Amino acid sequence: MSPVNRRHLLTAAGLTAAAAAGCSTTAPPPGNIPTPASGGLPASGDGSPPASAPATPDRPAIEIVHGPRDRPAVALTFHGQGTTAQVVALLAALETGGARGTVLAVGAWLAQAPDLAARITAHGHELGNHTQHHIDIAHRDAAATYAEINDCATVLRDLTGSPGRWFRPSQTRHSTALIRVQAARAGYGTCLSYDVDSLDYTDPGPAAVVRTTLKSVQKGSIVSMHCGHDGTIHALPEVLTGLRVRGLRAVTVTELLA
Ligand SMILES: [Zn+2]
Repeated sequence: MSPVNRRHLLTAAGLTAAAAAGCSTTAPPPGNIPTPASGGLPASGDGSPPASAPATPDRPAIEIVHGPRDRPAVALTFHGQGTTAQVVALLAALETGGARGTVLAVGAWLAQAPDLAARITAHGHELGNHTQHHIDIAHRDAAATYAEINDCATVLRDLTGSPGRWFRPSQTRHSTALIRVQAARAGYGTCLSYDVDSLDYTDPGPAAVVRTTLKSVQKGSIVSMHCGHDGTIHALPEVLTGLRVRGLRAVTVTELLA
């Protein structure tokens, strides 16, 4: 990946369009978004994407908003909550459409439905961390923030053997400096944001989810969706068809940023 593309992984894209509910109840000031100039980008010159940089307690996590804009792929990412039937139906819709997704699991939810962990990972989808209780994490102190991230990591580790590679803060589209420090402390080098909000959590109906997603999606997009809403499940076939028409493949975040 070129240095230019690495820089594109870190942008403030979408700040003005920050959603007002669901996973994104708050939009922090632009100053909270790390930029290459502010030192948020690992000083790797070996061509590896920033996400591969190891997390260390003295180097905060970076925030990723989207992937490379020169590759015909996107990542559909899902807030991990909802009934088992909804999650199974959603995964089946992805698989029918030849797609893979990334489920950012709420730890307390996954602990109550542990069989879903294997269902997700056995089919090429990816599991990540979306805090233990989906709290308003942008407004908690360091200890509470760390506990929320670390407790979910423990659930993921117990169920899958791995804490997953990606951490998405809860109830905020963008991470704060405090969140990025605590994410690194908990072993995550990346706070995963997104550049396309499907607004599916507002239950606008499948057609609106399709329209909202496809009008904004482009190469490298990371799309925010939710497992626990039937409209998302019903929208997925048409979303995937629309992506195909645009020449875009739906892959995991790890594949998108590889
Ligand atoms: Zn969420």
